[in-house]
Amino acid sequence: MPLFLTDEQKALKETVRKFTEEEIIPVRQELDEKEEYPAEIINKLVKDLLLACPFIPEEYDGAGLGVFESALIVEELARGCLGVCTAYAVSGLGLYPILIAGTNEQKLKYASAVARGEKIAAFGLTESSAGSDIGNLKTTAVKKSDIYVLNGVKQWITSASKADIYSVFAVTDRERGPRGISCFIVEKDTPGFTFGAKEKKLGIRCSETRELIFEDCEIPAENLLGREGHGFRYALETLNHSRAAVAASAVGVAQAALEIAVNYASERIQYDNPISSLQVIQHKLADMSILVESGRHLAYTAARMIDMKHPSHSRYSTMAKAYCGENAFTVANTALQIMGGYGYMRDFPIEKILRDAKILSIYEGTTEVQKNAVFKDLMKEMKNRKKLKKC
Ligand SMILES: Cc1cc2nc3c(=O)[nH]c(=O)nc-3n(C[C@H](O)[C@H](O)[C@H](O)COP(=O)(O)OP(=O)(O)OC[C@H]3O[C@@H](n4cnc5c(N)ncnc54)[C@H](O)[C@@H]3O)c2cc1C
Repeated sequence: MPLFLTDEQKALKETVRKFTEEEIIPVRQELDEKEEYPAEIINKLVKDLLLACPFIPEEYDGAGLGVFESALIVEELARGCLGVCTAYAVSGLGLYPILIAGTNEQKLKYASAVARGEKIAAFGLTESSAGSDIGNLKTTAVKKSDIYVLNGVKQWITSASKADIYSVFAVTDRERGPRGISCFIVEKDTPGFTFGAKEKKLGIRCSETRELIFEDCEIPAENLLGREGHGFRYALETLNHSRAAVAASAVGVAQAALEIAVNYASERIQYDNPISSLQVIQHKLADMSILVESGRHLAYTAARMIDMKHPSHSRYSTMAKAYCGENAFTVANTALQIMGGYGYMRDFPIEKILRDAKILSIYEGTTEVQKNAVFKDLMKEMKNRKKLKKC
C-alpha cells in the first residue's frame, strides 16, 4: 500500500481491489475475446459501490471526492482490466465539461443522473481530420432561433452507443479558429443522431468505440455549455483534469504486469533453478519496479495538485500521462519477455495486458503531444526565471 493515504483512501483502494479480484479478473479474458461491453460490472460499480464519477459534488448527489480518489479507483480497476477501467472512467470524461461550464439546471439534470448511476456520459471531440489537432474540427453547429443544428462525424468515441449523454464539440464560428468552437450536451435518441459500426481494436476490446454521426440533428439552444466560442478551453481543461487519472490507470496496468512477472520468475525453473536467481531477470524486475513506483508518485502528485487547484497542475498531469503511459507498455513488454513463449500465449494474461497498454500512449493525447506541452511549459519557466534574475 503506497504511503501518504488517509484511512478513507486506503479503505477505498482496498474495496476496489477486492471488487477487481472478485468481479473483473475472473472474466477479463472472456470479455476481451468476445469484445463484450462490461455492462454488469459497470452497473455494480455505480449502483452497489456508489462509485459513479466520485468527483461529482454532493449538491448534485455525488460523493464530493477528488480527482485523487478517482485516480485510486482507476489504478485498481486497470490492475484488473484496462478495458473495463476505460469503459467505467469515460463517463467522468464526458461529464466533466458539464461540471466546468454547465448551469445549475444542467448540473442538476445531468450530473445528478450520472451520480445516481442512472446515466452514462461520453466525450465527443475527435474527428477524422482532428486528432491531436483538435482546433481543426469540421462538425458544425448552426444556431436557428431556439435550436442548434449539428452536422458532422465524431470518430473513435468511447462508450458511444452505451452512453446516454454526450459532450459534443462543434464549430459555431469558422472564422475564429479554436475560439469558434463550442460545446453542447446531446442526448441519446435525438433525431439525426446515430452511431457508426463498432471498431475492431488491438486492445481494450471490451470498451466500445464508435463514431457519433450528426445529420441535421436539432438540439435545444439551452444545451449549449457555457459560452459560445469557449468549447476549446473546456476541452483542454477537461483533458488536463483527466490525464492524471489516465496516468494512474497506466500505473495499475504496469503494477499488474510486474506482479505477474515476479510470480512467474519465482516459479519458472530452467537449468535446475528458478529464473529469478539470474541477475539479468532480477535487474529487469528491479527496473520495472522503479518505473511503477516513480510513475505512481508522479500520477498521485498530479492528481493531488488538481484537487489543490495548484497553478502547475496541468504540467504535472501532462508529464504523468506521458511518463506512466509509456511505462505501462515498457513494463508489460518486459514482463512478456521474462515469461518467454508462455507470455506470448493467450492462456496467460500478459499478452492482453500488453495489447491493452498500447492505448495509454495514444488516447487523451499522444505521448508526443504531451511532450510538446511539457517542453513549452519548460521554456516559459526558463524565460520567467531569466526575467526574475534581471530584476
Ligand atoms: C481506443 C480509442 C478510444 C478513444 N476515445 C476517445 C473518446 O472517447 N473521445 C474522443 O474525443 N476521442 C477519443 N479517441 C481519440 C484519441 O484521443 C486520438 O486518437 C488521439 O488524440 C490522437 O489523435 P490521432 O489518433 O488522430 O493521431 P494524430 O493526431 O493523427 O497523430 C499521429 C501521430 O503523429 C504525432 N503527432 C501529431 N501531431 C503532432 C505534433 N504536433 N507534434 C508531435 N507529434 C505529433 C502523434 O503523436 C502520433 O504519433 C480515442 C482513440 C482511441 C484509439
